[in-house]
Amino acid sequence: MTRYDIAIIGQGPAGLSALLNAKVRNKTVVVFGEDSKALTQTSSIKNYPGFEDISGEDLNQKFKNGLKNFDYQINYKKVSQVYAMGDYFAIEDETHEIIEASSCIIATGRVINKDIKNEGKFFAKGLSYCATCDASLYKDKNVVLIGYNEESIEEANFTSEIVGKLSFVNMYKKNINLNDRIDLIEGKKPVEFKGENKVESLVFDDGSEISADGFFIIKDSSKPDRLVPSVKTDGPHIQVNKNMETNIRGLFAAGDVTGLPYQIGKAVGEGQTAALNAVKYIFNLKNNKK
Ligand SMILES: Cc1cc2nc3c(=O)[nH]c(=O)nc-3n(C[C@H](O)[C@H](O)[C@H](O)COP(=O)(O)OP(=O)(O)OC[C@H]3O[C@@H](n4cnc5c(N)ncnc54)[C@H](O)[C@@H]3O)c2cc1C
Repeated sequence: MTRYDIAIIGQGPAGLSALLNAKVRNKTVVVFGEDSKALTQTSSIKNYPGFEDISGEDLNQKFKNGLKNFDYQINYKKVSQVYAMGDYFAIEDETHEIIEASSCIIATGRVINKDIKNEGKFFAKGLSYCATCDASLYKDKNVVLIGYNEESIEEANFTSEIVGKLSFVNMYKKNINLNDRIDLIEGKKPVEFKGENKVESLVFDDGSEISADGFFIIKDSSKPDRLVPSVKTDGPHIQVNKNMETNIRGLFAAGDVTGLPYQIGKAVGEGQTAALNAVKYIFNLKNNKK
């Protein structure tokens, strides 16, 4: 069986940056996954250096164009499990096929459970999971933010400085510290989004309803340790050091899966760091150094 130098799980900004840097270093690489939805469904990116305003689809294409002259294996299947075997990794995809690699980079982004009815239907149609990314779309407009964690408080305070009116649905804890401009909604649970082509309102479990121009949900992603059972996590994120190394030798992680901020620039930088350290790890492995 072919053993690749590096297996990269994820074809988002982190995975593609890792792929480019591993190929520049002449490593054999297999990359898993489909085009990143987080990236391609973003209509306008204004904070990626070098591009004043670019769509996610175009940026994804530009990332891929940069890889045209390199040879690498793409596997569009989902990975179901990564097994650490000592000096290599066995990567099992959804069809139970196994591929081996000396090192592995997890760049799977974040998986968000969809708990409110029609959440999936209205994603990117007036409903977003990232206020830092999309609050500017709602300048002077009416916005509802549903907050489930500490991050949601920061995001609400920041968003209230941009939008016309912000209502915060508190699903986190009592006595939160919000600024005075924010309307607080407590004691009821959001159950359904309604709308035609885009989301228009949110229905609560007591039957009441709130309308807005835009909605944000700020909550944690699902835990990533189902993919690699013994990897150390910190809540919904894989724990890494500044070399993007996890607690497992030869296993690296990069991008949204390692934590905040969930941003393309960070994902690209971490993908590069992970790849360069994977290259160093493989060199040491082949030369029998620790
Ligand atoms: C609506 C929206 C707007 C945004 N706007 C901006 C913006 O303006 N500026 C900005 O900097 N950031 C923005 N972001 C955030 C940005 O898109 C993310 O930070 C970035 O895409 C993270 O890159 P990533 O490579 O870590 O993960 P992702 O882009 O999420 O990619 C994850 C990859 O992993 C693959 N994958 C997952 N699980 C598996 C598996 N089990 N097996 C195989 N493959 C798997 C997926 O197919 C995908 O290829 C926005 C996000 C959203 C949702």
